[in-house]
Amino acid sequence: MSVAGKVAVITGSTSGIGLGIAQGFARAGINVMINGLGDTKVIEAILEELNGYGIKAQYHGADMTQSAQIRDLMSTTLESFGALDILVNNAGIQKVSPIDEFPEDSWDAIMAINLSSSFHTTKAAIPIMRSAGWGRIINIASAHGLVASPFKSAYVAAKHGVIGLTKTTALECAEQNITCNAICPGYVMTPLVEKQVTDTAIARGISEEQVKTDVMLKAQWTKKFVEVEELAGTALFLCSDSAQNITGTNISVDGGWTAA
Ligand code: NAD
Repeated sequence: MSVAGKVAVITGSTSGIGLGIAQGFARAGINVMINGLGDTKVIEAILEELNGYGIKAQYHGADMTQSAQIRDLMSTTLESFGALDILVNNAGIQKVSPIDEFPEDSWDAIMAINLSSSFHTTKAAIPIMRSAGWGRIINIASAHGLVASPFKSAYVAAKHGVIGLTKTTALECAEQNITCNAICPGYVMTPLVEKQVTDTAIARGISEEQVKTDVMLKAQWTKKFVEVEELAGTALFLCSDSAQNITGTNISVDGGWTAA
């Protein structure tokens, strides 16, 4: 069965990985509800590009820290598109700081955006997918959902939580043709990581170039940053019939990082 004509909600898709997945989905004929922060003109340009692939693309500005707005994102998608087949939980933020100095508001924001928002979207999506008899939930976790790095306490805790949520969701929906899996990327050079380069350089007292080569690509054995197109391809595979028995697991796209 082709995924063309399906409807996907992708949180945090105005930038980086989420945008790459939205573009990959649109090229595959999937209608997309995009979401995220950003300048109105930039969002309009993204919608124009996505609609140019001959699918229906729409934007909803739900703030992933607000459960009522998240519920509205999900119900609006169902109303506007008449379906909600695929959910990609991707929105995320990062903060690099030693744990004993970690700002409490940053901890709360990371927990809300990187973990709790996926609970709220999933809770709303499951009844819709159950009545349709088909669904795919894809959580963008991280290599940091499997292993830790110093100075990223909230992010690592939230991403480990996402893997736990993935497994539980998979078991609860297993007999209803709904799969739930996590994709665990290594480093992808998106705005989120560009900012981390600067912050990690300060936290570790090294240059930005050293952060890229000695910290980020040191962990990535292929010595290559992951490209957003690779993650879009992985997400599309998880939506395919070949992946119907792949559920409750995580796919690492990390250049060998977590193999070592
Ligand atoms: P990014 O900063 O380019 O994109 C993040 C997206 O989330 C943006 O669209 C942003 O507007 C949105 N967002 C942030 N706060 C939001 C809020 N309160 N409400 C709604 N949307 C919000 O970052 P990215 O690198 O593309 O990250 C996307 C996901 O991939 C995140 O979950 C991140 O943890 C994960 N990830 C990234 C990397 C990497 O190396 N870039 C590696 C592993 C996992």
